[in-house]
Amino acid sequence: MAEDITASIDALVDSLSLEEQVSLLAGIDFWHTAAIVRLGIPSLRVSDGPAGARGTDFSGPASINVPCSTSLAASWDVELVAEIGHLLGREAKVKGARVLLAPTVNLHRTPTGGRNFECMSEDPYLTARTAVGYVQGLQAEGVASCIKHFVGNDTEFQRNSIDSQIDERTLRELYLVPFEAAVTEAGVMSVMTAYNRLNGPFAADHAELLTGILRQEWGFDGLVMSDWFGLHSTVEGVVAGLDLEMPGPTRHRGAALIAAVAAGEVDPSLIRASAARVVTLIARLGILDAGSPGADEASEGNAIDRALVRRAGAAGMVLLRNQDAVLPLDTERLRRVAVIGPNAEFGQIMGGGSAHVTPTHRVAPLSALVERLAPEGVAVDFAAGCSIYKRLPPFAANRTSGMQLEYFANPLDVDREGAEPQRRAVAQSSQLMWTEDPIDPTHPPTFGLIAKTVFTPDVDGHWLISVTSVADARVFVNGELIMDNSGRPTGGSFFGMGKAEMRETVEMEKGSPYELEVRLIRQPSGDSMTGLHLGALAPEPTDMIATAEAVAATADVSILVVGTNPDWESEGWDRDDMSLPGAQDELIRRVAAVSRRTIVVVNAGSPVAMPWLDDVDAVLMVWFPGQEFGDSLADVLLGVTEPGGRLPVTFPRSLEDTPAFEHSPGRNGEAKYLERRLVGYRWYDTVGRPPLFPFGVGLGYTSFEIIGTSVEGSHFLAVDVTNIGQRLGAAVVQVYAHRLDRTGAEADEADQRLVGWARAIIEAGATSTVQVALDPRAYQTWDVSSHGWVTVEGAWELRVGWSSRDIGARCAVDIGPAAS
Ligand code: BGC
Repeated sequence: MAEDITASIDALVDSLSLEEQVSLLAGIDFWHTAAIVRLGIPSLRVSDGPAGARGTDFSGPASINVPCSTSLAASWDVELVAEIGHLLGREAKVKGARVLLAPTVNLHRTPTGGRNFECMSEDPYLTARTAVGYVQGLQAEGVASCIKHFVGNDTEFQRNSIDSQIDERTLRELYLVPFEAAVTEAGVMSVMTAYNRLNGPFAADHAELLTGILRQEWGFDGLVMSDWFGLHSTVEGVVAGLDLEMPGPTRHRGAALIAAVAAGEVDPSLIRASAARVVTLIARLGILDAGSPGADEASEGNAIDRALVRRAGAAGMVLLRNQDAVLPLDTERLRRVAVIGPNAEFGQIMGGGSAHVTPTHRVAPLSALVERLAPEGVAVDFAAGCSIYKRLPPFAANRTSGMQLEYFANPLDVDREGAEPQRRAVAQSSQLMWTEDPIDPTHPPTFGLIAKTVFTPDVDGHWLISVTSVADARVFVNGELIMDNSGRPTGGSFFGMGKAEMRETVEMEKGSPYELEVRLIRQPSGDSMTGLHLGALAPEPTDMIATAEAVAATADVSILVVGTNPDWESEGWDRDDMSLPGAQDELIRRVAAVSRRTIVVVNAGSPVAMPWLDDVDAVLMVWFPGQEFGDSLADVLLGVTEPGGRLPVTFPRSLEDTPAFEHSPGRNGEAKYLERRLVGYRWYDTVGRPPLFPFGVGLGYTSFEIIGTSVEGSHFLAVDVTNIGQRLGAAVVQVYAHRLDRTGAEADEADQRLVGWARAIIEAGATSTVQVALDPRAYQTWDVSSHGWVTVEGAWELRVGWSSRDIGARCAVDIGPAAS
């Protein structure tokens, strides 16, 4: 930063009293820092990320929802990711936010990690390159990226307390790599610490991490903030270099920090340095004189941005199997198409938790396919086949009268006859969330709520009614208590802070009004968030799979859209296994048995088991592809565009067959990363275990051949590639480094690792020379005795190919001391 700006910030910070400096070191609410009105320092608004820029309200106004980060990484297209970054920057500004809490760059250490969809890849280099594109695009719009979660929050198991035990070399060569690249290459302006401990101390209190590595070694000069409620100390955090406690109001700073300074436990220079970092970030964003953000948060969502999201969704789709070139579909040879599956009618566009946004628009697979196929004279039949609710859906708006809410300051007033509520409100949805006390936001949440609605079923029979809540809840139907979750343990909903769902069957008559009432008792607890979700599910026919079979039997092709949803894949908990939830495996098998052709579209954020793989003709992995899902999918299925993706994560044959299986999720408060550096393909390729689908694979609609390679120096390759197929396509040339001379190799040294790639669009029949620049650290390792990077000299082989298991050319390189 220019010297005169630094000087003026110094002067500004020096004119702040200690109390004012301390006030800058904690949020004032969920999403804002404190303003110092007397000196014109505005409040700064932050917003989640990474799937959109949500703004300050968990349920709207709407934001453009982009593909999940695994999908972005699957595109292996850093320029495209940068375009998404630009889009998110514009979206953040529309919400008045100048810090986007994104991207998430923890690694896919196991396939069941609840937030994998929010992370990019199992590979640090692919994650780093993707993150650099994301951060550069975002920050070019004048919005700071807050990259997260630093570091070791790779699963959700006991995330608030678990001690991730990661050895020094594994940390350096894997988990720290994306953060380091974001700092040193993209100039990321902010970093969020992880919830977990790292080798002992909490990440938020970790001096070696925040000051030693991040600031002193990497030269980071931005702002470090805690994850929400992830700071547990008054002294240790600020001493370690944690600038901003989020959210507010403060729990550990304020008066407690001033007292710690007075007691000599914290040097005032540390307070000043952190306050200066808050002011510096505001100055860098150019909003020091702009005043605090207003209450207005708009929603834009224009056609250009939607077209980009549509393109990006398709670019991340990975074609894993395509027997007899069943895809792309030739509409001229189709008369009837069956669209089947629990994710076909709505489509899951994003995962769950803080990454959730209300989309500006939503295109489902079924409607998009109908829209595209009907004009071609192709009939589309639909059958859900089964349902996969982990939590029942909220009441449909047209079945209820809206929720009448009565809030009581004394929680026990909900049971006191004649007690007068302190506040009344009406809500349209039966999913409610409060980030603060609804009566007095300055106090930790303590309140009672009576929520009433009239529910009118549209079918006769046994309805399922459910409740999920952070506080104790009782549910009454026509005055009769049907469920009481008081005293039940927390875990399983609302970011892990809520209780698991309770369900009850209620026999209901079509058209009759039923009075539903919930009494919620919110006592003070460590959490500031409160949530209530009421769900309802109409009686389901028992023969849903048989109906799907009948639909499939008459069609030329069946397109099955299966997968998970934001309740199965969410922040707050991990998946139990890799199986598709519900009866989906059986559905696929039975539909495949009667279909002429079967195409399975997997709509999930991370790998799923595919016991039916040999029974189907095509498999397309689409992740959570963002709000334009249906159109991206139709573009790919109909061949308007290629499935552009290559796997950013290995698909294992079974959960038992994964690198961290024996050591996860952890025990006795510790997650020991004993697989060390052998994460993902590094493990499969080193121990010789066959994956279901290898890292880097993806078929596209044409084929390529490598016809020549030449190495220039040790960090640059020119690869001649011919498109030997019938249509234009994208070649993703991948380069893996393998050490031929294994002298001194340790057990966790990977057989090979990705050190570069390039994407090139090549016409059918044409040959292109694809230039691949390699990772400057391609031949380096972290040396634990000197605590630094060292070049591993000797004979290396560069393997050039289409996945970690499909190598088309090998080049020998001799690495001498000067090659780093
Ligand atoms: C998540 C963060 C998120 C924050 C604010 C936390 O629960 O771990 O990723 O940015 O909430 O919503």
